[in-house]
Amino acid sequence: MRFGIHVPKQRNLTATAEYARDVGCGAFQIFSGNPVGWRIGRLDVLDRDGFVETVRGADMRPALVHAPYLINLATGDRRLRRLSMRALTDAMTRAADLRAGPVVVHAGNHKGAGPRRAIERAVRMIARVLKQSPPAATLAVEGGAGKGTEIGVTFEELASIVSPFPARRVGVLLDTAHLWALGWDLRKADAVAALLEALDRGPGLGRLVGLHVNDSKAELGSRRDKHALWTEGRMGRRALRNLVRSPELEDMPLVFEIPGKTREFDRGRLASMRRMGKRIRGG
Ligand SMILES: [Zn+2]
Ligand SMILES: [Zn+2]
Repeated sequence: MRFGIHVPKQRNLTATAEYARDVGCGAFQIFSGNPVGWRIGRLDVLDRDGFVETVRGADMRPALVHAPYLINLATGDRRLRRLSMRALTDAMTRAADLRAGPVVVHAGNHKGAGPRRAIERAVRMIARVLKQSPPAATLAVEGGAGKGTEIGVTFEELASIVSPFPARRVGVLLDTAHLWALGWDLRKADAVAALLEALDRGPGLGRLVGLHVNDSKAELGSRRDKHALWTEGRMGRRALRNLVRSPELEDMPLVFEIPGKTREFDRGRLASMRRMGKRIRGG
C-alpha cells in the first residue's frame, strides 16, 4: 500500500515534491494550480525537472494532480463549459509535463437538468478533453458525496461517466468522507468488501486508481461533505484499519487530503500508517 498526503504548494513544485519525499510519502497529491481559479500558472522548466527527478528518485507513485473545483463537466452553460474544458485540459497538460497523474476531477452538478442529460454532457466533455490532451495524460473521476444536484455519486453514475473510455485513460477515485456521506459505514468489518463488490459491478474494480482517506465530521448518510483529520472525525481508525486490511487494496495509493499541521505531523501520520500496514499484513 502506498500511503501519502495532499501536499500544499510549497515555494515551487520541486519543493513540493521534496516535502512529499521528506515526510515519507509513497504516493501524493498536488493541485494542478489554483484550486479555485480558472487559469493555470506558467511552468518553469527547471522547476519541472526538479519535480520529476525528485518524484522518480523517491519512487512516489502516483503523483495525483487535483483539478480545480470550479470545473463542472456537466454544465449546460456555454461559458462555464468552455472554461471547464480549458481548465481540465490545462490540468491534463500540466500533469503530462510533470510525468504525473491521473488528474482527479469532480464530475459536477446537473443544476436541475437531471442526471441523465448531465452525464451525457460530462461524457462529451471528457471525450473532447482527452482528444485535446497529451496522450500520456490520464483522468480519474472522483466519486461525490451527493450534495445538491451532484452527479458521479452512485457507482452506476460513475460507470456511465467512465465506461465509454478505455480504463487506462479514465479511472475512478473514491473518497472515504464522501462514501461515509452516502451511508457506507466503513467501521464495519465487512463494509470494505461490500463496497468493492459494488464498485466492481459499477465502473469495475480495475478502474480504481486510489482513495482519498479523509475522516468526516458529518453524519453517516447525511450527503454532507465535512472532511476531518482521522483523530477528529466520526469514522475513526477502525475504518482506516479495515481499508488497510483489504487484500483488494493492497497496491492502492491511500492519500490523506486534509493538510497536516506541521511537517512532523505529516511524517508521524505516515509512519503510523506504515506501522499499521506492517502489523496487519506482517513483514
Ligand atoms: Zn476532490
Ligand atoms: Zn477527495
